[in-house]
Amino acid sequence: MIHAPVLKHLVLVGGGHAHVHVLKSFGMRPMPGVRLTLVSREGETPYSGMIPGFVAGTYSFEECHIDLARLGAATGARFIQAEATGIDRVQRQLLLRNRPPLAYDLLSIDVGSTPGAAAIPGASEHALIVKPISTFGDRWLEFHRTLAGRTGSLAATVVGGGAGGTELALALRARLGRDAPHLAIAVRLVTQGEVLARHPPAARAAARRMLARRGIDLIEGVGVTAIEAEAITLVDGRRLTSDTTLVVTDATAPRWLAATGLACDDGGFLAVDATLQSPDDPAIFAAGDCAAVRAHPRPKAGVFAVRQGPPLAENLRRALLGQPPHPFTPQSSYLALIGSGDGEAIAVRGGLALTGRWAWRLKDWIDRRWMAMYRDPAPMTMSREPSPPDPALADAEAKRLLQDIGMRCGGCGAKVGASALQRVLARLGPSPGADVALGLEAPDDAALIEVPAGQTLVQSVDFFRSFLDDPLLFGEIAAIHALGDVWAMGGRPHSALALAVVPLAAEHLVEDDLFQMLAGARRVLDAAGAALIGGHSGEGAEMALGFSVNGLVERGRALRKGGLRPGDALLLSKPLGTGAIFAAAMRARARARWIEAALALMRRPSGDAAQALVAAGAHACTDVTGFGLAGHLAEMIRASGRGDEVAVDLALDDLPLLDGAAELVGAGIVSSLQAENLRARHLIDGPERWHDDPRAALLFDPQTAGGLLAALPADQAAALAKRDASFRIVGHVHARDPARPPIRLV
Ligand SMILES: Cc1cc2nc3c(=O)[nH]c(=O)nc-3n(C[C@H](O)[C@H](O)[C@H](O)COP(=O)(O)OP(=O)(O)OC[C@H]3O[C@@H](n4cnc5c(N)ncnc54)[C@H](O)[C@@H]3O)c2cc1C
Repeated sequence: MIHAPVLKHLVLVGGGHAHVHVLKSFGMRPMPGVRLTLVSREGETPYSGMIPGFVAGTYSFEECHIDLARLGAATGARFIQAEATGIDRVQRQLLLRNRPPLAYDLLSIDVGSTPGAAAIPGASEHALIVKPISTFGDRWLEFHRTLAGRTGSLAATVVGGGAGGTELALALRARLGRDAPHLAIAVRLVTQGEVLARHPPAARAAARRMLARRGIDLIEGVGVTAIEAEAITLVDGRRLTSDTTLVVTDATAPRWLAATGLACDDGGFLAVDATLQSPDDPAIFAAGDCAAVRAHPRPKAGVFAVRQGPPLAENLRRALLGQPPHPFTPQSSYLALIGSGDGEAIAVRGGLALTGRWAWRLKDWIDRRWMAMYRDPAPMTMSREPSPPDPALADAEAKRLLQDIGMRCGGCGAKVGASALQRVLARLGPSPGADVALGLEAPDDAALIEVPAGQTLVQSVDFFRSFLDDPLLFGEIAAIHALGDVWAMGGRPHSALALAVVPLAAEHLVEDDLFQMLAGARRVLDAAGAALIGGHSGEGAEMALGFSVNGLVERGRALRKGGLRPGDALLLSKPLGTGAIFAAAMRARARARWIEAALALMRRPSGDAAQALVAAGAHACTDVTGFGLAGHLAEMIRASGRGDEVAVDLALDDLPLLDGAAELVGAGIVSSLQAENLRARHLIDGPERWHDDPRAALLFDPQTAGGLLAALPADQAAALAKRDASFRIVGHVHARDPARPPIRLV
């Protein structure tokens, strides 16, 4: 079946408050033919209104952060964790740190603001800088963990007396009083102007009363000129003890915005029309703190970013369809609620300010209700049948694609067009140090490889559809997975042929997908010393990639699966759990931080591990992939001796597991291959009810780009595990008792 082709690529940069609404809107009402990608530096983005409550201990980290990976999965958007550094407006590409640019047709920017703290000497080294608030949560938790170990007194300073700073000083006072009663606590709030300077006098008076009642020392009208590890210096020369200093000064614009050449206001924030569209480039929209709406200037506050979500979503839809966007007028005043950290709040609207517990209950209700829309998203798009794209989406090239639909050829007619392929290969450039007789630099019907005397060719092939949104990382991981077989044989990667399938799309998007996948693969192949010497690419229902890989090994020196001997210990070079984590990711159930940690491991090539194992005297090795640890271990046992001579004790407590994997398996989320792998269960003997232990279930979890499993004499295995923490001893080999299954859980 041919799926609806992708005609336009809408890229959202930053997981800010307006963009989470856009994601949800497109999840609930998708536009067939539009690919939506969210690029964000962090996987978890905070809801600013709840951050002081998080510091006060009212909310957990999870309660006040939106998991962008889960929201992306639930809404059908691709999620790419990366930092934008610029825009190439001519090529329509978003420039990213440490990775190739990403092609877009329409771009929307909601990246918030960055710390104004850089202006205070010492702030970046010694202070907890609250903006960008997206990284504040983890830093705060780190600081909080140090409290128990402190003795004596603790002087804490909050620099910046806006609403955020005032709330934070109050939250800090409440939390320290509760969690560090063993310390003599002093909290102060220092601000250059008046406290709540942008609010009416009644609000300032209420804030002064609230701070005074809680013993917080308010220093107004004095700037901070320097921050040290245990002190701050004020503009009037005073040097005050401050064991911890939080900085919440004015928002400044991310510097890269000005370098885009787009119109900016005096502060460097992107100027946009009332439609949220850049006056200089109709393909670029912006919202939230990073945007300055020329017709309606407003303070930098999350409430405005939130309110811009619906008009932004609507105008992005209109722009995709070639329709003029509608202007939007934000409200001129809003209800500000400033929490005390201990159950009260000041409600400010117009010139009025009222304080009470009711105001806190209202704030808590508003914030929780907003977060509930994004925090635990149920998949929105999965069950829907794809429908045809709106013809208004299509430019001339895409119109031809739409006319063809239903008549797309199979066979070689389904290849990626020659010109797109050539452009991709030209951008990739030749493989460095290619030691091949004939490769891609002089393309022929096939590549030629000469095997040097005394060496044996190691060959293997792997291919799978993408389990990831990010084509670059998918390319890296697919290459690492394929090379795993060569490394496991103790071979040196030599060359590879790629088989790539890209979803049916407009030519520039096919080209970008193919480029991203192969660029990822080339990173791995180049570093491993393997040349990309050819391949085949075609269009299909979904992204898929595989490699036929070649390696070389000294004749007679290949490491085989068989060869386990009683007295050996088994070393594993990567934790288990990728199958469960990505099964959960598809269902929008995996946390961004679990996915991030799993990806970091999957992206680690096994070349160094293989070398270390060979040097330490490994005499049997395999890579743990689709059959899971149990299945691959069973293969090793069968291949050793006559196949019934050795058995293995596996220590469940010693199994390295990815964060989240056991939790997910415990909740019943497993890979679709798990049931098949579980057929090897009869090979395992364990304590009563071992089947119910999620760690045991992970023995059957299929691994992508999994680790090496190797056998070494026990003392050498112990020495290697001591030298290199990436290895873990997971089991021991002994002579088999024929009456018992070959694997025993201990
Ligand atoms: C302590 C505190 C309390 C506050 N309380 C309130 C309140 O109660 N009410 C209120 O209205 N306002 C409040 N604010 C202000 C509020 O934080 C901001 O106005 C709001 O967060 C702006 O939202 P945004 O959508 O513009 O961006 P943000 O919420 O800052 O989101 C920006 C996103 O972009 C991502 N990003 C940043 N740079 C890049 C890049 N280069 N590439 C890719 N991704 C990137 C980040 O990871 C993040 O996901 C508070 C601020 C603070 C510091």
